[in-house]
Amino acid sequence: MHDPKIRLEKMIDNLKRHGYKITPQRLAILRILAYSLGHPSVEEIYQQIRIDFPTISIATVYKNISTMKTLGEVLELGFGNDSSRYDGHTPYPHPHVICTKCKKIVDSQLENFQDFTQKVIQETGFSIVNHRIDFFGLCPDCQRQNS
Ligand SMILES: [Zn+2]
Ligand SMILES: [Zn+2]
Repeated sequence: MHDPKIRLEKMIDNLKRHGYKITPQRLAILRILAYSLGHPSVEEIYQQIRIDFPTISIATVYKNISTMKTLGEVLELGFGNDSSRYDGHTPYPHPHVICTKCKKIVDSQLENFQDFTQKVIQETGFSIVNHRIDFFGLCPDCQRQNS
């Protein structure tokens, strides 16, 4: 698990290093990305930002997230037709568990995940640069509603 404060500082450093200015709007977006564990969509981030910055456009939010993605500070989870969800808290590939009913996404902390990647490398001879592992099902809340 990452300390969101450290995550935020790292994001700011990386932006500065690449010549980006840290505007109050940008900082607010970074803060949401670093602190949220729930993998928000652009729309959700926009709704939160609007509370403090009513004039901001969703295009600006999108552009900022896109920049962070390019810098490797945000992980995008695309789902075909559904809109993408973003993880700025843990910005490198990791397993996710996704509720098919309420669309909640949580991180899974698999301890021997590195062994698993190592096995794939041994088996296939690939040099692995990325991976995407999603588990789908019903979250505890939705299971309760179903019964
Ligand atoms: Zn659910
Ligand atoms: Zn995640």
